[in-house]
Amino acid sequence: MNASPDPAPASGELVADMRAILRDDQVDVSDSALDLHARGESVDRSRRPDVVVYPESTHDVQRVVSYAYRTRTPVTPVAVNSSLEGHTIPVQGGISLDLTRLDRILELLPEDFLAVVQPGVTYPRLNEALKATGLFFPVDPGAEASLGGMASTNASGTMAVRYGVTSDLVIGMEVVTPTGAVVRTGGRARKSSSGYALTKLFCGAEGTLGVITELTVKLAARPAAVIGARCAFGDVATCVAFVTELIQSGTPLARCELLDPAAIGAINRHLGTTLPEAPTVFLEFHGDEGWVEEIAEIALTLAREHGAVTAEAARDGDALRALWKARHQAYYCFVAVNPGLANVITDLAVPVSRLAEVIEASLEAMGRLALPAYLIGHVGDGNFHLTLFYDRDDAVAKARLDAAYGELVRLSLAAGGTCTGEHGIGLRKLAYARAEHGDAVELMWAIKDALDPAGIMNPGKKLPPRAGSATALASAEAPVEVD
Ligand SMILES: Cc1cc2nc3c(=O)[nH]c(=O)nc-3n(C[C@H](O)[C@H](O)[C@H](O)COP(=O)(O)OP(=O)(O)OC[C@H]3O[C@@H](n4cnc5c(N)ncnc54)[C@H](O)[C@@H]3O)c2cc1C
Repeated sequence: MNASPDPAPASGELVADMRAILRDDQVDVSDSALDLHARGESVDRSRRPDVVVYPESTHDVQRVVSYAYRTRTPVTPVAVNSSLEGHTIPVQGGISLDLTRLDRILELLPEDFLAVVQPGVTYPRLNEALKATGLFFPVDPGAEASLGGMASTNASGTMAVRYGVTSDLVIGMEVVTPTGAVVRTGGRARKSSSGYALTKLFCGAEGTLGVITELTVKLAARPAAVIGARCAFGDVATCVAFVTELIQSGTPLARCELLDPAAIGAINRHLGTTLPEAPTVFLEFHGDEGWVEEIAEIALTLAREHGAVTAEAARDGDALRALWKARHQAYYCFVAVNPGLANVITDLAVPVSRLAEVIEASLEAMGRLALPAYLIGHVGDGNFHLTLFYDRDDAVAKARLDAAYGELVRLSLAAGGTCTGEHGIGLRKLAYARAEHGDAVELMWAIKDALDPAGIMNPGKKLPPRAGSATALASAEAPVEVD
């Protein structure tokens, strides 16, 4: 563990060393590969890695990470690259460790409601493989994300209100630690009180504590009956009041999503739909037939009592798919109707009782900025996003946007909420982590130092700089070099 490290290799040497460890077709320094791995979604920054490598086994990962530990070379894990906070930008260069070729479904264990997968397996592919079993993996971030990436950001999505977030469903892992050791955490028992909760620790670690090379995940039974519903209201306040009462009444919801009129407008423009451009709640109920009919009726009646302008159910497969297509493609619709503009996404999550006031204040603050802004939210969990578009050349608008963004985070924290309900800290939220966690940040650094003594794993992400650390400040606060 304490072997004195060799100096980080120069770029050409690093590439030659990677070619000695892996096959030639697992090492890429083409412009397209370096550019593709220089940036992520939404964050308007980039930096190329020195090399992109594609491990195909735990052994490959172990050899690359052991080398990186010995030479103090930064390693940035990346899978589908759909994370939204700059998680995968290799801010210190080095190795971009692309895990998409670790994509085997290792075991389906329907009798135990479990699956064992490599980290590059995407959740839609796992669900396709599970079709005949009557089971599914119920976390669904909009993008076709990988299980390793989802565990690493503790992703949630539209069904977390019913089935939980990714860390609720991962019960075991194989991990290559930042010193190159292979460890197993958890197991196959659905519950355990044994040892420290290491599986939970790696969930949400954003690739800063090691590389996940295998996951055991819990599955859920596909519901016998599903009913969707869409309720539109005259104004956002009434819409949120309906949602709050629905949640507080204990109505069992499988999905509860809010979109504001601007969001619906962008969807109509891009997808050619004709949805009423009003604050709208998308709902879904899971269970057996009689039960879901009853619950859906309770929700629709409550919506009408709140003066819903439309309140309609979708029962068959096509109608349901059409209903959710609009929601799932929302982000890409926003991007499409704002060509050439950069975007910023908030990810506030607050206690449900504070949802109305925080949404209202957020919309007011964003309205003052007079920028294209769209609200969507997993409001069943008290979680919502505002996606704002700005001209990257307009420094004044960007500074005002940053200030307003900071205000919203402070509002969320004051309400007992968090700066990120599901997207994670990455780069963009570093500025808020200390305000949220206080002295617990030092404990987090102690964990990071214990697991990653050379500081090579996804450096500059997740943890705010330690006081007085020039390196951390350079990677976290200064603008990342734009290639
Ligand atoms: C249109 C759109 C909608 C989205 N909606 C949601 C949503 O509803 N809910 C939600 O939670 N998120 C959402 N996201 C964000 C994104 O899909 C999630 O953050 C997802 O978990 C990222 O998975 P990925 O495979 O793309 O990981 P990547 O982006 O490739 O990586 C994410 C992080 O995980 C690390 N990592 C990846 N694989 C490993 C591994 N094997 N071992 C260790 N570290 C690893 C990376 O270093 C990085 O820090 C959305 C994104 C888009 C573009």
